Amino acid sequence: MNKKIAVIKGDGIGPEIIEESVKVLKKIEDKFGHSFELIYVDAGGAAIDKCGKALPQETIDVCLASDSVLLGAVGGPKYDSQPAENRPERALLGIRSLLGLYANLRPAKLFDQLRDASPLREEIVDAGIDFMVVRELTGGVYFGDHVTEEKDGEAVAYDVMKYSESEVKRIAKVAFDTARLRGKKVCSVDKANVLDSSKLWRKVVVEVAKDYPDVELSHMYVDNAAMQLCKNPAQFDVILTENMFGDILSDEASMITGTIGTIPSASFGDSTRGMYEPIHGSAPDIAGMDMANPIGTILSVAMMMKYSFHMENEAKVIEEAVGKVLDQGYRTKDMESANTTVIGCKEMGDRIAELI
Ligand code: ATP
Ligand code: MG
Repeated sequence: MNKKIAVIKGDGIGPEIIEESVKVLKKIEDKFGHSFELIYVDAGGAAIDKCGKALPQETIDVCLASDSVLLGAVGGPKYDSQPAENRPERALLGIRSLLGLYANLRPAKLFDQLRDASPLREEIVDAGIDFMVVRELTGGVYFGDHVTEEKDGEAVAYDVMKYSESEVKRIAKVAFDTARLRGKKVCSVDKANVLDSSKLWRKVVVEVAKDYPDVELSHMYVDNAAMQLCKNPAQFDVILTENMFGDILSDEASMITGTIGTIPSASFGDSTRGMYEPIHGSAPDIAGMDMANPIGTILSVAMMMKYSFHMENEAKVIEEAVGKVLDQGYRTKDMESANTTVIGCKEMGDRIAELI
């Protein structure tokens, strides 16, 4: 297959982790006979340095004309003095909204080899942690009215959590489609005992579920879900939830799996075009030192293969190569533990690519 991929290296460790991911893409090309056209564009601090704007028009055009976007990380203290509308992080929000990316997928998978890194008790870890959070990204309280006003001589503030049937329907479909590629279970998380937006959420999810008789649906209140993630994460396959609950639960989910350096993410909308990036930031403290963990970005490439290109075998081969390198005891500094060999970002990328 021929695919166009917009590649944004970004700032800090961004260029280093992208370089290793590109090695992996080239290997997949060779092994499976695909052709990936990589188009490098700038966003964030690197773009500010070049042209003064965090999100140049050319970057937008290239992203819109590509089959997918691969991003390293943007931002850093150097850009703290930029005005709010030109902050590096704003470039990301800009790309998300221009590409209509309303679904955010974050896997929470504990590699067996990294189990020491989980803060959870051994018997809980033993049961396995391998689920996916599907978070709605463009609705809910973040996008409702935010109001602060004077009433009876004091300040009063409120924020509106709003969802339409169509917004819930499209994200629910993403969750059920995702479950079909995994363990065929969806747990929809809401607060339907209190919130009207959650009552609507639940009603629409039940409706969508009728088209997926092969997927098992359950519901959970968000407070209980936060507890269950610590108590019994093995019960989850796909967690479907709205924007703010997803923000909170996906951070909790990444924490229980240990290191931030290994976790990928995908965001997409109605088309198969998605944006793929590790969940960590630009880590300016270790930039340029060949110490960054490239696995979160490499696994983001695997997600791109699977979710945007329907290349499930290719994704599996990448995931297996990562597993093998960890089996062999190789770790970047952030994953170091007893009886392991610490290697740099480049060597980690080389070894993973070689195993493909
Ligand atoms: P952002 O606001 O962009 O999310 P942040 O300041 O919250 O950034 P990160 O940039 O993710 O946080 O860095 C947090 C810590 O984790 C830093 O000490 C950083 O060095 C470390 N870190 C982040 N990503 C990696 C990685 N890929 N490999 C190794 N260490 C990392
Ligand atoms: Mg952060």
